[in-house]
Amino acid sequence: MEPIIDMRSDTVTRPTPEMRDAMARAAVGDDVAGDDPSVNELESRASALFGKEAALFVPSGTMGNLLGILAQTAPGDEILTHQENHIYYYEGGGYAAVAGCSVRFVDDQDAPKRGVMTPDGLDRALRGCDIHFPRSRLLSIENTHNRAGGLVWPEDMRRELCDAAHQRGLRVHLDGARLWNASVASGIPIHELVEGCDSISVCLSKGLGCPVGSLLVSDRETIQIARHKRKMIGGGMRQAGVLAAAAIHALEHHHIDRLSEDHRRAKLLAEELTKLPIFDFDPELVETNLVYARLSREALEAQGDAFAWQDLLDERGVRCYAESRTTLRFVTHLDLSDELVTLVPERVAGVMH
Ligand SMILES: *Cc1c(COP(=O)(O)O)cnc(C)c1O
Repeated sequence: MEPIIDMRSDTVTRPTPEMRDAMARAAVGDDVAGDDPSVNELESRASALFGKEAALFVPSGTMGNLLGILAQTAPGDEILTHQENHIYYYEGGGYAAVAGCSVRFVDDQDAPKRGVMTPDGLDRALRGCDIHFPRSRLLSIENTHNRAGGLVWPEDMRRELCDAAHQRGLRVHLDGARLWNASVASGIPIHELVEGCDSISVCLSKGLGCPVGSLLVSDRETIQIARHKRKMIGGGMRQAGVLAAAAIHALEHHHIDRLSEDHRRAKLLAEELTKLPIFDFDPELVETNLVYARLSREALEAQGDAFAWQDLLDERGVRCYAESRTTLRFVTHLDLSDELVTLVPERVAGVMH
């Protein structure tokens, strides 16, 4: 069915014609030697935007997170994180396979939102200093939280947790793959959202619509270590300015501000979907551009689980991902429009007829 509406992820966007022009015109050099002017410009813009000393351009968010770990831990160290966090859930176990770290989960039992951690939760997970234990070294948080439905961390709780982590001798890494969305949704500037975070990874290839790339932002010393580790794991790129230019273009041409459009469409979609007997979730849970749409019992009984629904929707030209047996994920992004998004509910409803 035409047109195909691809809502699997905000990574499916293609660079706009203007972005491609900017990429074609980019001044480039050998970035491993430090002479790519576009990469250097992007890194210095990013450090200013985040209020940190330095930044490093990397091929992916996964590598940004891995370098955050590699630069701030030693093999045998333990990372504290929530069990639904991307760094643990979706990154191939890089923390263990490459960095040699173990993970201990911080629960969210006393938090108001899923994926959010509290100082008490941290204390339940921390075991203190003893020769039997691995050294607890790094706390990793996620904002917006992907598997919790793109939720924005309550800012006071984030700050409280970062303070608690520092008091307990931990460094804090923020997986901010969609931190731009958190900033737009909360109205809080990026540099404030990262106060108290020692390192941050942020994706350029998601909401901002760039074809490739992420940034690791931190203090000068951590970035210097990460630069060395990036080379070690094969992430040193040569004329990467072609890619950095896409990001500079996005920053200069309101690709951050326009995320409010994605958020508006996600909310609209959630409201329309929940009018159908097919779904059973609260559209109020949608805070940014991710719609985690739980299927109703009726829908599951009629057509099978979310994986079956994913295939049925695919046949109707709506692409999304089943996140579990009961839940489909729809993501709004730069390559969608109001017209496309409003077609989705009727195509979904068609499955039941
Ligand atoms: C997408 C994502 C990443 C990883 O980014 P890639 O560029 O796909 O490697 C990391 N963390 C979160 C929360 C993400 O959503």
